[in-house]
Amino acid sequence: LTRLRRGLQKTRQGLVSQLLDILGDDPLTPEAVNDLETLLLKADVGVNATDKVLSVLRQRMNEEIIDPTEGIQILKNELKNLLEEPIRESSQKVLTPDKNRLNIWLLVGVNGVGKTTTLGKLANLAVRSGYTVLIAAADTFRAAAVQQIEVWGQRSHVPIIANPSVNADPAAVVFDALNAAKAKGTNLVLVDTAGRLQTKHNLMEELAKIRRVIDRLAPNAVVESLLVLDASQGQNGLYQAMAFAKTIPLTGVILTKLDGSARGGVALAVASEAKLPIRFIGAGEGIRDLHPFSSFEFVEALLA
Ligand code: GDP
Repeated sequence: LTRLRRGLQKTRQGLVSQLLDILGDDPLTPEAVNDLETLLLKADVGVNATDKVLSVLRQRMNEEIIDPTEGIQILKNELKNLLEEPIRESSQKVLTPDKNRLNIWLLVGVNGVGKTTTLGKLANLAVRSGYTVLIAAADTFRAAAVQQIEVWGQRSHVPIIANPSVNADPAAVVFDALNAAKAKGTNLVLVDTAGRLQTKHNLMEELAKIRRVIDRLAPNAVVESLLVLDASQGQNGLYQAMAFAKTIPLTGVILTKLDGSARGGVALAVASEAKLPIRFIGAGEGIRDLHPFSSFEFVEALLA
């Protein structure tokens, strides 16, 4: 949480000090809310989320006089509501594997967002929480991906299923991984996938084929398709979410690099426009720098 706070500081220093400048000590005015609108858009909160939040504030202003502290409180509540909405619609508040079934979590996302690192951190978190884990190294496109995954696997003593030959069939790697998982009674299979969005067609076919293998081999498994997004890419993350959502049905988002020059506002854009729950946040390069997402903590850190 401290890391997250520190990471969001860059967004926050902007947001809070500017917020206070805008609001001052006087009751909220329509002009102040217009300035607030510009501020939220600049912080990558997105048009949709900004509209939703400010319409509530404007509505309240029509009914009563709102002082700045109350204004900030309303803002916080609405931001939390936005983040909570897609979480409420899913069956789990915090994403955890079902101990009694095979769980398969596919990690998707463009290269460089932190997919492999996140997979390593997730494996470690799951092992620390008492689950048995197996990694399927199905990013067979990038030569170094398998070696990188192997290092992470060793750190958590998690077995890895891989095919070292470049351009091996990713679906075949998943096939082998699922057979191994069933033989061992593994709780959670983490699947790394290729991240080349520029050749969307291949990626779509590849992910669809992986999905068919899963449906055939493990029809009763709980499958999560988690999109990994780099928070420092701001609004670009929203476009990635929309593009990926067209190729496979996504069930959630993992937001990385919130420790850096984070533009944390994109979490709100993703929740409100892509309607996806944020499931985990990455705040560092270390193995323990991954945390289950809490909208309360996130908004408090953003607007502390
Ligand atoms: P991939 O191409 O999506 O698999 O990305 P990688 O996992 O290889 O990560 C790309 C770079 O981002 C690496 O240098 C990671 O150490 C770094 N990285 C990943 N997650 C985080 C994070 O939460 N915070 C920071 N600061 N760096 C991260």
